[in-house]
Amino acid sequence: MATNISVCLSFDFDAISVWLGSLNAASPSAISRGEFGAVATERLLQMLARWEIRSTWFIPGHTIDTYPDLVGRIVDAGHEIGHHNYCHENPISLSLEEEKRVLDRGTDAIRRITGRPPEGFRSPAWDLSPHSLDLLLERGFLYDSSLMGNDYTPYYCRIGDVPAKDGPYVFGREVDLVEIPVTWGLDDFPAFEWLYGVNQGLSAASQVYERWAGDFDYLCEFAGKGVYCLTMHPQVIGRGHRLLMLDRLVDHMKERTSVSFMAMAEVAREWKRSHSATPAQETRCMLFSTDSCKPWSYDEAKK
Ligand SMILES: [Zn+2]
Repeated sequence: MATNISVCLSFDFDAISVWLGSLNAASPSAISRGEFGAVATERLLQMLARWEIRSTWFIPGHTIDTYPDLVGRIVDAGHEIGHHNYCHENPISLSLEEEKRVLDRGTDAIRRITGRPPEGFRSPAWDLSPHSLDLLLERGFLYDSSLMGNDYTPYYCRIGDVPAKDGPYVFGREVDLVEIPVTWGLDDFPAFEWLYGVNQGLSAASQVYERWAGDFDYLCEFAGKGVYCLTMHPQVIGRGHRLLMLDRLVDHMKERTSVSFMAMAEVAREWKRSHSATPAQETRCMLFSTDSCKPWSYDEAKK
């Protein structure tokens, strides 16, 4: 069957910020878990270069300011840099003013390292406040990647939903912000990262391979068209046995000739070009088409 599949490998380079910002843990032991993210990033950059794959990195401003040289090398290798707040703050824990400040500070850090504002946003813990989508729109973001309203098909975000409980849920209006959907099942953190009393993690890599490859195979065999978005964290995926699993998965994906590995901004732009804002129901029924997508060329980016 002819397929037309875009694969997005995305990396949330939280480093130390997730321990300080989300988990409020500043012990040398906790910090060292974040530090490992820098070690693993070196390995991932080598693997991405070997695969000739362009990926997307959501990087908190705190990581950019802590590891400017390493983040500069991610930029130099041609990868996309997306927004991930400043110190991995969860938007629902912030006031409106605080959320604005964190967004703008994160953007400033990205602009310093790339020379331009980010096009994409991924919320830490994939949580959005009642204000988040409005703030992203105001700031001209192209896409968000924090919601789970579809699996293989991007869609337009909505504003103005009414979460009624005594009647049907009321859907708001679509806005000019593309959603590239995510899911916890295609995220390495819950599968692998052990957190005392919170998350068991430490799954066998073979088990995770089965889940990740299974979702990809379903897309190829049954959905036929769409985007497959994998969310990984260098400090989690960067352990030896997990990198071997990822290498095996990418090999498996590359066996399909109609698969293109793309940065998420490219996917969002291509999807938006062929899907103008429409009534919510119509958009949700459309299949994602990437007929006009051009695979990114590693050699071009290195020029
Ligand atoms: Zn994160």
